[in-house]
Amino acid sequence: MCDLKRTLDATVCSSALHFLSGCLTQFSLGTLRFGDAVRDWEDSVLAFLDCLIPTGACISVSYLLCRSYSQQFYPARRKLIYCSRTVPEIEKALAELKRLMDYRISQAETEEEKEKEKSYTGLGLTSRKNLCIHPEVSKEKKGKVVDARCRDLTNSAACEKGRADPGSVELCDWHENLGKLEPGNLIPPGIWTLADVLQYGRDKGICPYFTVRRMMPFVDIIIYSFHYLLDPKVAEQVSKELSKDAIVVFDEAHNIDNVCIESLSIDLTRPMLDSAARSVSKLGEKIEEIKTTDAAKLQDEYAKLVEGLQDDVDDTDGFMANPLLPDDLLNEAIPGNIRKAEHFVAFLKRFVEYLKTRMRVLHVVAETPLSFLQHLKDITYIERRPLRFCAERLQSLIRTLQISRLDEYSALQKVASFATLVSTYEKGLAPSSYNSLWNLSFCKTLPSGFLLILEPFETDNATVPNPVFHFTCLDPSLAIKPVFERFSSVVITSGTISPLDMYPKMLQFTPVVQETYPMTLTRNAFLPLVITRGSDQVAISSRFEVRNDPAVVRNFGSILIEYSKIVPDGIVAFFPSYLYMESIVAAWNDMGILNEVWKHKLIFVETPDANETSIALENYRRACDNGRGAVLLSVARGKVSEGIDFDHNYGRAVIMFGVPYQYTESRILKARLEYLRDAYRIRESEFLGFDAMRNAAQCVGRVLRGKTDWGLMVFADKRFARADKRAKLPRWINQYITETASNLSTDMALTLSKLFMRTISQNPNENQTGISLWTLEDVEKAQAKQKALALEAAQEREAHNDDEDEYGDGGINDDMLVDFDLDV
Ligand code: SF4
Repeated sequence: MCDLKRTLDATVCSSALHFLSGCLTQFSLGTLRFGDAVRDWEDSVLAFLDCLIPTGACISVSYLLCRSYSQQFYPARRKLIYCSRTVPEIEKALAELKRLMDYRISQAETEEEKEKEKSYTGLGLTSRKNLCIHPEVSKEKKGKVVDARCRDLTNSAACEKGRADPGSVELCDWHENLGKLEPGNLIPPGIWTLADVLQYGRDKGICPYFTVRRMMPFVDIIIYSFHYLLDPKVAEQVSKELSKDAIVVFDEAHNIDNVCIESLSIDLTRPMLDSAARSVSKLGEKIEEIKTTDAAKLQDEYAKLVEGLQDDVDDTDGFMANPLLPDDLLNEAIPGNIRKAEHFVAFLKRFVEYLKTRMRVLHVVAETPLSFLQHLKDITYIERRPLRFCAERLQSLIRTLQISRLDEYSALQKVASFATLVSTYEKGLAPSSYNSLWNLSFCKTLPSGFLLILEPFETDNATVPNPVFHFTCLDPSLAIKPVFERFSSVVITSGTISPLDMYPKMLQFTPVVQETYPMTLTRNAFLPLVITRGSDQVAISSRFEVRNDPAVVRNFGSILIEYSKIVPDGIVAFFPSYLYMESIVAAWNDMGILNEVWKHKLIFVETPDANETSIALENYRRACDNGRGAVLLSVARGKVSEGIDFDHNYGRAVIMFGVPYQYTESRILKARLEYLRDAYRIRESEFLGFDAMRNAAQCVGRVLRGKTDWGLMVFADKRFARADKRAKLPRWINQYITETASNLSTDMALTLSKLFMRTISQNPNENQTGISLWTLEDVEKAQAKQKALALEAAQEREAHNDDEDEYGDGGINDDMLVDFDLDV
């Protein structure tokens, strides 16, 4: 702790802040407090921060800043594992760290210090798709295909053969060149953005992806996606070797519970089962073929399995890692009935056929894993034990048969993972209430955290079956538990992680430090407004009963028209769902509202297709840049609402049409709500409200991305006026919603908006020094103040102790007794 305190002393903080005042967008008083928090939680199990500095970038930089200092002085140089959500966010964090370190190098006073700064190494990891430089492989459009083709070129069997007999198999030269370099010295020290690593790989002829993977144990900071830690399939391959004393940070963690749930859930569809069946047949053919050419291979594999030996697999070969959490991995021999390759293929065939038959039902089925296993056993005699080994056995077989183009086997891989998951997490039974919900007929004990739901139709009104078999995890704490158990310091942070008390409940942890930091701006850079009714005084809401009411739709439309008249450049509008957006846009078209908006701005629409959306975004930005102005219609929880910044002219106003509740008729959501209620006493309405407000905050937060930025945040729904709803918004937004601004009609909101824009557009270069940006003197002043306060507190404590001494523990001490006249 002393070392850490030293790292955050005056010189260090002041120079850092001085740098920040020169180079970065927004930094605030929160920094020093943030530093305090870092000090507090450094040796703790968990920290939990709601850092309300307006940009995610600043959250990242503040943490990186504190860590980089502490690592310089902390003897053990604990590694920092920094997880972010998207590739642009990872790249942004790396770029910030790079600028920070460049500055520190330039400011180092001695040569020794300079060398120390230069030795600080940080890398970012993302998929092969983004880091491959092979001229053909990198052209593949799908990530899965890139992975599979890369594995064909780099798996250990191919490499061995290719090296022994050059030209016999195709290898990747960029991968081969890496082998010639000294391990741990594949890339010089320093901070490397993803673009830098790509360029370095091209220049030196080495694979950027494997450079980063192999350098991971040697770097000081690794920045990658949540999945590399939370998804057992990936974590097993990528993060297994990271040291336990590393500090883990989950940035932008407002949706971390959903990532946890996704990482232990699997969906199977009919086409997937068909593809899996084809793969099983191909495996059968391959086995027959190999029996005639190289039967010893299969014999060897069988002998190994009999002895319970497991192959020492190079992680780069890992076609499919085990989908189980580390604690649930079995250290046992593979059961006898699936050891022989042909027996295992027959076993898989039976299982896939069973799943296909199950998919033929035309009503919704919800059942626990236990009930599924019982039914499976009754019909096919397949036992639970061999099922548990399905993923592992398939991996072994694929390796033995040396199969290439593994992407063609991805459906079979899913089926095997499904089998392993369903047979491992079968313990415990469904909550009693599932019975009433879907007419289930099993006992009533503790919830298991997993449920199987078979939905034969895509929507309730559909007539053509398109069945999906969901194996769904209901408990987010399961996936994150191994992270909490393994690493001693975990930080969960976001600008919109609110209300804070919900996360410890959902993820089952006790925070050691829990902090919310206010924003420090010299002026109110954003104006949140709640519009509860239109100019005609009709209440507006996206509540199911009134959402398609023509008066509501028209009022929503007139908000858009009016704001497109008065707001310069870009406006981003969010809707609760694609379906709702489609119906509203169609109605606006009929009402002539779109024509009105077109007079002032171009209109772009987000769609579920990522490519279409990125084209729309690009053109939206172009329209904002050339002064034409544009409106982007998008969806909460969609691509645009997460990780895309609408800074400056790209977003002068965000309008949230309605409260973005989830689709409550979703059976998976219903099951999750019931689970949360039964297991953690979180009421349905509490979770739904929390989820809607965190998404609303995420959407409106897009508008303010830096200290020179400004924008309007319009909440258009009368439910936002309710105090309980607003209380769930992050404090940095909620504190600016004044009483007057919390219940407005459209025309009143417009008046306030015009006033705000007139004020904000004046004096844009106002000096923020001393408020959101600190000079060395400011830092010293703040520290002197802090010291004085600490001294005062210490004196007070001392005085208090003196008082206590006087009375001791409440009794009378011996000294006092001598003064008493004990004669009665
Ligand atoms: S080793 Fe690297 S460069 Fe070669 S195919 Fe794989 S990802 Fe691409």
